[in-house]
Formats: sequence, structure tokens, C-alpha cells
Amino acid sequence: MRVDMRAEAVVDLAALRANIRSLRARTGSAAVMSVVKADGYGHGGVPCARAALEAGATWLGTATPEEALALRAAGITAEQARVLCWLWTPGGPWEQVVLADIDISVSGEWALRHVLDAVRATGRPARVHLKADTGLGRNGAQPHDWPDLVAAARAAEAEGLIAVTGLWSHFACADEPGHPANAAQLAAFRTALAVAEAAGLRPEVRHLANSPATLLLPEAHFDLVRAGLAQYGLSPVPDLGGPADFGLRPVMTLQAQIAQVKRVPAGHGVSYGHTYTVPGDTTLALVPVGYADGVPRHASGTGPVWLAGKWRTVAGRVAMDQFVVDLGGDHAEVGDLAILFGPGDRGEPTAEDWARAAGTISYEIVTRIGARVPRRYLGAGQGDGG
Ligand SMILES: *Cc1c(COP(=O)(O)O)cnc(C)c1O
Repeated sequence: MRVDMRAEAVVDLAALRANIRSLRARTGSAAVMSVVKADGYGHGGVPCARAALEAGATWLGTATPEEALALRAAGITAEQARVLCWLWTPGGPWEQVVLADIDISVSGEWALRHVLDAVRATGRPARVHLKADTGLGRNGAQPHDWPDLVAAARAAEAEGLIAVTGLWSHFACADEPGHPANAAQLAAFRTALAVAEAAGLRPEVRHLANSPATLLLPEAHFDLVRAGLAQYGLSPVPDLGGPADFGLRPVMTLQAQIAQVKRVPAGHGVSYGHTYTVPGDTTLALVPVGYADGVPRHASGTGPVWLAGKWRTVAGRVAMDQFVVDLGGDHAEVGDLAILFGPGDRGEPTAEDWARAAGTISYEIVTRIGARVPRRYLGAGQGDGG
């Protein structure tokens, strides 16, 4: 098999749609938010968002307001998808966000004031999700600040300035389903909901679950689940099961053409620092992707690659643009395909294998695939029957 590019990330949108359908089958009446922050975890935010909507997701989630605006700019309308953004600072594009009918997460009274400024400037009410910190310790209002935030939001709602459309929070340890923090966060979330309800708030959606909670903690599904990693077909709990165990299929394949093949004599050093020297006369193959493309330098000497019909290991250091593989007695040609990771069913490694080799998580492997690697989409614009 050949590719025309130096390297490419092939993104299988049919697999993404199937993953969304598989998640929907688990969540029953709860809606699915497709989390497409960070350019869709490296897969391409807009194509993945469209595919997820085709498969029945009804919400899109981003970290930043700029990411949310990019979805609307690409033509995804409010009729097609609600969009929520949740990570922001003063000085952001709040008026544009309000005009684009994007839901905004509010974690404190300072944030509510910024939203209200944008509402007054545009003359349009804003859709707001109040976020409670139920134990993660990132954003969200602490329990002691929550009643005041709720009261301020309720007052703004009564004036017609905002609609509180969501109440939400985020887990710290959902990837360890037995961790006591999960039960504590669920209880704290229920308390926060009760406080908001008592103050008169009637949100459209209450939501807490990320991918691991979607797969493992059904009591946390509420009205909406926020699925990131799982829709890209990777397991958020690799110690508990791989993608197939959860009805998921990896969406991204990263592959490159071999850029050079040559014989070298025994004792030849390979790549910077000569951390690897060939034990005997051998053949080296040069794979033209490196850490600028998102191949982790921490996987020097350990990263796996499928090449010339076998699983092989990066020889020596991963450089900015390339790494080397020792083929031993095997043969390859310039232009042959090296598969760094894919779904795994042709024998190739997976993003999870790279995560293990680099001491990280598969989230980071796919998200860091660089802008220099073109994305090629398979299965775009097909519904495959709902
Ligand atoms: C990234 C993110 C998610 C998605 O997490 P996954 O584990 O990838 O499903 C959900 N909610 C929030 C607040 C996030 O930041």
C-alpha cells in the first residue's frame, strides 16, 4: 500500500459515527455532546463535529470561545447543534459568542458580569451553564460560592438577560470507577442541583459525565453526556478494556512513506546521541515524521511502528522531523508505508501502544499530531443509516 504524502493522518468518519451510535445506545434518554475542542483531539474539529451530528449527537463542546465560533463560522447552525464553551478569561469575544447563539459556561460572578456586559452590548440574551466545582479543583464555583452565583444568575434570568440552560460539573477520577471521589462528586453535584432548583432555576440540561463516566458510571449520565475520547474510538480506561470492549473503533491512522533505505555496517550509530548502535550489518529505514509532527520524543527507543510486514521499534532518538527503524535482515523500499498507529486490526500498533511507549495517555498522542500532517477524511457526508 502506498500513500502520496510524506505522512498523513487518515480520519475514518464512518468509525466516528459508529462510535457515537454506540455511545447513544448506552446513554438512553441522555443526549450526547460531541467534544471537539483542540481541533477534535487532533482529528479535525469541523469534520468530526459534522459526523457526530449525523450520528445523533445534538450538542458540541469546546474549551475556548474561539473554537466554538469556528464551528458556527463553518456553517453549523443553532438549529443543527447547541454549542457550549467552558474555558475563558476576561477580554474574550463575548459579544460574538452571544450573537452566535453559543452557550457559555459561568464559574463565578466575575464571569457572569462579563456575560451581562455582552448581553447589554448586543441586546441579545445569553445562554448560560453554571458550573459547580464538585471536587476537581479546576474551574467551577465552590460550594460556599454556589448559592450566591445561583441567586445572581436567577436574578439576571428574571430580568430576561440570560437563560440558565445548563447546570454542570466535571469528574476528577471517572477513569477509576471505584474511586471514592466519584461518589463524593456525584453527591456534591446533586446538592448543587438541589440548591439551584430551590432558587428557581429550571435548566434544559444537567451534565457531569465525560467519556469514562459515560462508559462506566451510568448514574452520572443525567440529561447529557460529554464524550471526547470515546467518540474518537480510544479507551479512556485502557487498564479496564480496549476500544472493542466498549463497542468503539479508533478513528485515526497515522502513516508515512519511507524516505530512505540503506545498508550500514555493524557498530554504526543511529540518530542524535548515538543512543542506539546497530549490533550487526543491517538495513535502516528512515521514517519522515518526528516530534514536530507529534511523534513523542519520549518514545525514543520504544515507539512501535508497523513496517515491512512486522511490528518494529524506533531505533535511537526521535528527532524533530524523522526517526529511524532497524530492519535487521528484512527489506523495504523507499515509498513503502510505515503505520505508526491505527485501529490495530492489520497488526499495526494503536495510539494506546504509543501512549504506553511514551509514558502518557492516548488523549495526548492523537491531540498532538501536528499541523504539518495533512488529515485525509474517509466516509465524509454519509449517514450510514442514522
Ligand atoms: C475534555 C473535556 C471532556 C471530554 O473528556 P473525555 O474524557 O475526552 O470524554 C468533557 N468535559 C470537559 C469539561 C472537558 O474539558
